[in-house]
Amino acid sequence: MKEKIIEALKAKLNRRVWESWFSTFDVKDIQDNVVVFQVGNLFIKDWLEKKYGQLIAKTLREVFDKPVEYRIEYTSIQQDIDDNDEPVVKKRPLILTPLNPILTFENFVVGPNNMFAYSACLEVAKNPGKYNPLFLYGGVGLGKTHLIQAIGHYLFKYQPDLRVIYLTSERFLNELVDSIKKGKVQEFREKFRTKIDVLLLDDIQFLTGKMGIQMELFHTFNDLYNAGKQIVICSDRDPSDLNGFQDRLISRFQMGVVAKLEKPDEETSFKIARKMVEIEGGQLDEEVLRLVARYFSDNLRRLRGSIVKLLMHQQITGEQVNCETAKQLLDINPVGRNLNLSDKLIYALCEEFSVSPQELLGNSRRKDIIIARQIGIYVAKNVLGLSLRQVAELFNKSHPTVSHAIEKVKELLESQNQEIKSKVEKISKMISVKAYGQ
Ligand code: ADP
Ligand code: MG
Repeated sequence: MKEKIIEALKAKLNRRVWESWFSTFDVKDIQDNVVVFQVGNLFIKDWLEKKYGQLIAKTLREVFDKPVEYRIEYTSIQQDIDDNDEPVVKKRPLILTPLNPILTFENFVVGPNNMFAYSACLEVAKNPGKYNPLFLYGGVGLGKTHLIQAIGHYLFKYQPDLRVIYLTSERFLNELVDSIKKGKVQEFREKFRTKIDVLLLDDIQFLTGKMGIQMELFHTFNDLYNAGKQIVICSDRDPSDLNGFQDRLISRFQMGVVAKLEKPDEETSFKIARKMVEIEGGQLDEEVLRLVARYFSDNLRRLRGSIVKLLMHQQITGEQVNCETAKQLLDINPVGRNLNLSDKLIYALCEEFSVSPQELLGNSRRKDIIIARQIGIYVAKNVLGLSLRQVAELFNKSHPTVSHAIEKVKELLESQNQEIKSKVEKISKMISVKAYGQ
C-alpha cells in the first residue's frame, strides 16, 4: 500500500517537483483511517501542506477509494534514500560568488526608506517561495546587495539543506558563455533550472540589451517559478524602466513583489554610519558621524568608504578625528580650498542649511531647501555678481524661477527680516573667507 500511495502521488507531479520537494517524503505508517507521512525537513513539511495538501488528499481518496485523513510528520531522517555516494547532507548549498559575511539582516539598519524591502526580504528568507519573484530595486549603494545576501545567509543558517545560489548577472552570463565554449550548455541548464531551490540574482541591469542570455534567463525563471522555487532579483531601476529587456521577462519580474530602496533620511543614515563603525570595530566622534552620514546618504558605499578612511587615519595617527580633519580627509565641504566661487557657494549653502547638493540643485519643494536655494540664488547674483544666465545654470533652474527667487529675498531683506539677513551675511562670509571654520 505504501508503494501504491507514493506511485500515485509521483504520477501526479512532474519529475522536478518530485525531486525537489518529495525527495525525503515517505509513508511512515498507515493507521485506521490516517496515513502518516514523514519528511526530513520542517520547511518542506510546511511547504507540502500548503502547496500540495489538496493534491495529497485527493490522491489518497483515489487510492483508498474513500476519504482518508493524513498527517505529515517531520523526522530528521538520515539520507537512507541516497542511492549514490553523495555527502550526508544531500542538498549542499551552492554559492557561486561567496557571500560577504558582513551583509546579514543583523547588520542591516531598518528605516522608513527600506522598511518594506527589508520586510519582504526577511519574509522570503523565512518562507522561500512565498513572494515569488521578489524584485528589489534602487540607486547605487542603497543596500540591495546587502539585503539579497542577507537572504542567502539566513537560508544557509536556518535551512542548510536548501540549495541556494547567489550570483551577479555578469557571473550568470559568464557561466553560460563558458558552458557554451566547453560544449556543456546542457549542464548549465540543468544546474540553474533543476538543481537549485533559491536563485539570488544581483545586478540584473547588466543584462540590458543582451538578448541571448535573457532568453536563457527566461527559461530558467519559468522552470524555477513553476517548481515553486524562490527567485530574488536586484536591479538599479524599476522593472518597467529596464529598457533593452524582453517584455516577457519584465512582466515576469513584476509578477511577485516589487520593492524599492530609497535614500535614507538623516537619522537613518546616522544609524547606518554608526553600525558601520561598530562593524569595523572602531570608534568615531558622534559629530563626525553626523557629518559623514549627511554628506554620503546618497550612496552608502561611499559612506562606508569614508568611515573606513577616517578610522584608518585615527589608527595611523593615534588621534581622534574631528569634523575639520574629516572634511579635509574626505574632501567634503572644501570651502576655501581650490574651488571656484560658485562651487564654494553651493558647499556653503549645504553646510549652513544641512542639505545635500542634490537636494539643493534638485526640484524638492521642502521649505528649508527652497529657502537655501533662494538665498543661494540671491548671493550668486548680488554678491558673486554672476549673470542671470550663469545663476540659472549653476542652480539648474529656469530664468523666471531665478528672477523670482532674487525678488523674494530682496523683499525680505528690505522688510528687515533678520533671519534672512543674517543667513545672507553668513553665506557671503563663508565664501569669501579663506577656509571657513578655521
Ligand atoms: P547596492 O547593492 O544597492 O549598490 P550595497 O548593498 O552594496 O548597495 O550597500 C552599500 C553599502 O552600504 C554596503 O557596505 C552595505 O553594507 C551598506 N548598507 C546599505 N544599506 C544599509 C543599511 N540599511 N544598514 C547597514 N548598512 C547598509
Ligand atoms: Mg549591489
